[in-house]
Amino acid sequence: MVSDLTSDALVAGLLVAIMAGMAALLNGQFHFRARLEHFLRDREARVRLLTDNIADIVIVIDRKGCLQYVSPSVAAVLGMEENAFLGRACLEMVHEDDREKIAGASRRLKEAGACPSVRFRMQRSGGETIWLECRFKMAGYSSGRKPEIVGVLRDVTRQQRLEQELSSANLRLAQLATTDGLTRLANRRSFDAFLREAYARYPVLSVLLIDIDHFKGFNDALGHQAGDRCLQQIAQTIGSATAETGGFSARYGGEEFAVVLPGVAEAKAVKVADAIRLLVSRLSIDHPRSPRKRVTISVGVAEKSATTESELALTREADIALYQAKEHGRDCTVASSTLVPGSLELASLVPAISDVG
Ligand code: GH3
Ligand code: MG
Ligand code: MG
Repeated sequence: MVSDLTSDALVAGLLVAIMAGMAALLNGQFHFRARLEHFLRDREARVRLLTDNIADIVIVIDRKGCLQYVSPSVAAVLGMEENAFLGRACLEMVHEDDREKIAGASRRLKEAGACPSVRFRMQRSGGETIWLECRFKMAGYSSGRKPEIVGVLRDVTRQQRLEQELSSANLRLAQLATTDGLTRLANRRSFDAFLREAYARYPVLSVLLIDIDHFKGFNDALGHQAGDRCLQQIAQTIGSATAETGGFSARYGGEEFAVVLPGVAEAKAVKVADAIRLLVSRLSIDHPRSPRKRVTISVGVAEKSATTESELALTREADIALYQAKEHGRDCTVASSTLVPGSLELASLVPAISDVG
């Protein structure tokens, strides 16, 4: 009887102990779960805080290119709620000229660790075009779900506009540095650079130096502004005639122009010079103080030869020929090869480079 009571008490004690153990286990599990939920809720709240408050737009694109997630910041940037984007193919919303850039970036995503960045245009709800920059990355889930593409987009419209303004200002600056302001022909600096390169590259090459006849008298009679207009007309004539020959024309100094004809020998260069002279004469610009009563030009021609020492020497030969053309009564062309060597060494009509602004 006593032993029955003892064994009952033991069983009851064991059961109480098991129940207490299970209660403690459940309590532990409960607390663990509560902590886990709190942790997850906290993390989700933090992610939401970030995506809701950053100015950048965060997107998730599935492997078919459809938007699975768009952060609420899209409303401020594009003027539309995120629901307007969900499930749509992202390429169809991008400016058609920029779609290939995005397709290219998505192809690069296949490379390990790639984070391609691309700039493209989109339309705001009001129709205004804005520039966005997006950095893409392939991102995998820890759960084993298939990886998706995560993109972070930023409105770079202002930056894009500033960059465009800067690059067109640079272009204008580069043009200013190489172009003559009055005639829009290449300036002396460009001529020197072009001739240096062409001289080194072409075994056959000719240079024309062109000078307007009695131009001081033209200015004195008709005024400096009329003189400027005359310079512009002649520059245009020389420019278009030279372009047809594949040559390079420049304003060399005040009323002097220069032409480089790569690959052209002297005989043909003289023909080009005479054609330009004829075209200028046909402009029929009145010149009250010229014996011919119209504006004319004189041209000196020189060809690179085995004895020409440098491009400077070649220009000097053309300069001497030009001087000779003036001596012959102007409105004519003289080729350097027709001159007696050494007879005109000191002659010069064109200014040294230091005299040209
Ligand atoms: P030649 O037939 O011997 O060449 O006589 P020329 O009068 O043309 O030569 P000269 O060197 O005596 O005078 C050149 C003139 O060109 C003087 C100068 O005022 C004028 N000139 C130079 N640059 C400009 C310019 O940019 N605009 C105007 N209007 N005149 C210029
Ligand atoms: Mg002159
Ligand atoms: Mg002159």
